Amino acid sequence: KRRIGMMTSGGDAPGMNGAVRAVVRMAIHKGCEAFAVYEGYEGLVQGGDYIRKMEWEDVRGFLSEGGTLIGTARCMSFMQRPGRLQAAKNLITKGIDALIICGGDGSLTGADLFRSEWPSLLEELVQKNELTTEQVEPFRHLNIVGMVGSIDNDMSSTDATIGAYSSLARICQAVDFIDATAFSHSRAFVVEVMGRHCGWLALMAGISTGADFIFIPENPPEDGWEQEMCKIVSKHRALGKRKTIVIVAEGAQDRHLNKISCSKVKDLLANDLGLDTRVTTLGHVQRGGPACAYDRTLATLQGVEAVEAVLDAGPETPTPVISIIENKICRQPLMEAVKLTKSVAEAIQAKDFVKAIGLRDAE
Ligand code: ADP
Repeated sequence: KRRIGMMTSGGDAPGMNGAVRAVVRMAIHKGCEAFAVYEGYEGLVQGGDYIRKMEWEDVRGFLSEGGTLIGTARCMSFMQRPGRLQAAKNLITKGIDALIICGGDGSLTGADLFRSEWPSLLEELVQKNELTTEQVEPFRHLNIVGMVGSIDNDMSSTDATIGAYSSLARICQAVDFIDATAFSHSRAFVVEVMGRHCGWLALMAGISTGADFIFIPENPPEDGWEQEMCKIVSKHRALGKRKTIVIVAEGAQDRHLNKISCSKVKDLLANDLGLDTRVTTLGHVQRGGPACAYDRTLATLQGVEAVEAVLDAGPETPTPVISIIENKICRQPLMEAVKLTKSVAEAIQAKDFVKAIGLRDAE
């Protein structure tokens, strides 16, 4: 009887609860025992009551809830080996030898490091008399399965991350609300949306709301962007449009700090075009609220696959991450997905946008 732990980690995303529900119920359906690790890696390091056995009814109502009901945290101690040693001891004490983690690339990198260190962690626990050889013997391998939870849709090797479509829907709804008041007063709004390295939310929101102009981290503003933006907005106004929406991804400001910012865009629209302009930062409303239908189905189908992946795994199987590619739920090698994601983010950071787009296209 396998004992499978489920954890959410990193930034919360709508749909994470659906993932927990699916893993718990599929595990029970398959005759396994399911455990929830509360507060991400913090709970793994703390152990005790942070790791709780879950029954079928414990996840009732989880499917539609936003955020993560089992909590998440940034955990510094798991970044260090002593923290991971304690985590290994806690897992063995609870009899758990498989972990399914729903989080971003940081969380999944940590999970794979934990898996690769596992044999040496067991050795150290025995050496330090924390556990006996007999106690560690049944736990020679730790199975890790990743699920990607992130509102930014910023992981390579999957078409969608859990939470991205809920967040996109929330942004569109918020822009629709802004539209009404913008139209009434014939105003312009600069709307800042989330997206650190990845402009997916801003790009898709721009298309979905018919925004006049967008800024994303992958596309650096070229010389003369000010005139270009003003020309486009003026053209739209000349066509009779009473509202102007410019969407700025948070990451576009971080990356191109000296070039663009919401207030600079606002000043241009106000001073050069004479538009009454306001800035709205959507902030954390983009993360909260119920999961959309897509994230509920994605989390459920992926949770089922994650448990299957645990049960299929042999000692030599590379750690999988559960993906969706062309509408099919599949498994990808976790570390390759993380590596590709990192290369794209690093290329953007180094302002090598051609390479970043090439890496994405190469997928
Ligand atoms: P995300 O998973 O959303 O990318 P973070 O990068 O903040 O979020 O990672 C969440 C947590 O995962 C961290 O607080 C830390 O506990 C753990 N973690 C991240 N990177 C590593 C790493 N390289 N080694 C060990 N643990 C890590």
